[in-house]
Amino acid sequence: DAVLTLDGIEKRYNPGAPSEVTVLRGASLTVAAGELVALVAPSGAGKSTLLHIAGLLDTADAGRVLLAGQDMTRLSDRRRTQARRADIGFVYQLHHLLPEFTAAENIVLPQLAAGVPQAKALDRARMLLDSVGLDRRAGHRPGALSGGEQQRVAVCRALANAPRLLLADEPTGNLDPGTSDTVFAALLSLVRDTGLAALIATHNLDLAARMDRTVRMAAGRLT
Ligand code: ADP
Ligand code: ADP
Repeated sequence: DAVLTLDGIEKRYNPGAPSEVTVLRGASLTVAAGELVALVAPSGAGKSTLLHIAGLLDTADAGRVLLAGQDMTRLSDRRRTQARRADIGFVYQLHHLLPEFTAAENIVLPQLAAGVPQAKALDRARMLLDSVGLDRRAGHRPGALSGGEQQRVAVCRALANAPRLLLADEPTGNLDPGTSDTVFAALLSLVRDTGLAALIATHNLDLAARMDRTVRMAAGRLT
C-alpha cells in the first residue's frame, strides 16, 4: 500500500535560458504506509525540488506523482491544493511557527482551517505535544522555547490534520547533535504511532541509518 509514488519525475529550471539546469532526470520512488525513508544527497542535488514536487507545491515537467494510488498530476490546481492540505504535512529546517501564537495554538490553527471544532482541535494539539514530551510547553510562545522544542512543535503542527504523508527537509539541520537526536526520536515515535509514510531529507547519516531505508540522489535519479 504505497502512500507516495514518484514515477519518472523530470524537472528543469529556466528551460531555454543560459541558466537552464536539469535537476531531476527520471526520479522514481515509493514510500509505503508506516515506512520512514531517508533521502540523502549532497547539497544542490535536488532534494528540495523533489520534496516540493512530492508535496504538490511544484509540478514536474514529466512523470507522475501518486498519493495513495491517485494520480495527482491529472488534477486541477485547486484539487491538488485540497489534497496537499488534507494528506501532506511538512517540516522544514527552520520551524516557521507563528511567533504571536502559543505552541498549542500553532497546532490548533491548521485544524480550524480544516473545519475541526475548537475544543477537539485543542485536545489533539495537547495530545500531540504530550507525545513529544512538551505537555508543559503548550502555553509558551515559540520565542520562549528552545530550538529543539520549537522543532518538536513544528513536527506536531505538521501532523495536526493527521496527514498520510510527512515530508521533511533537513528537519534537524539547524540543531546541535544532542537536540537533533531528541527531535528525531520524537518524529520517529510519531511516525511509528500513526502508521504515517515519511520521506526525510537529511545530511545526517546516523539519523538516516535509524530509518527503514535510505534513498540516494545522484545525477537526478534515485537509487
Ligand atoms: P538541494 O535541496 O538538494 O540542495 P535544490 O532542489 O534546492 O537542491 O536545488 C537543486 C538545483 O536546482 C540547484 O542547482 C539549484 O540552484 C537549482 N534550483 C533550485 N530552485 C531553483 C529555481 N527556483 N530556479 C532555478 N534554479 C533552481
Ligand atoms: P494554508 O492551508 O495555511 O493556506 P498552504 O496550502 O499554503 O497552507 O500550504 C500547505 C503547506 O505547504 C504548509 O505547510 C506550508 O508551509 C507549505 N508551503 C506552502 N507554500 C510553500 C512554498 N512555496 N514553499 C514551501 N512550502 C510551502
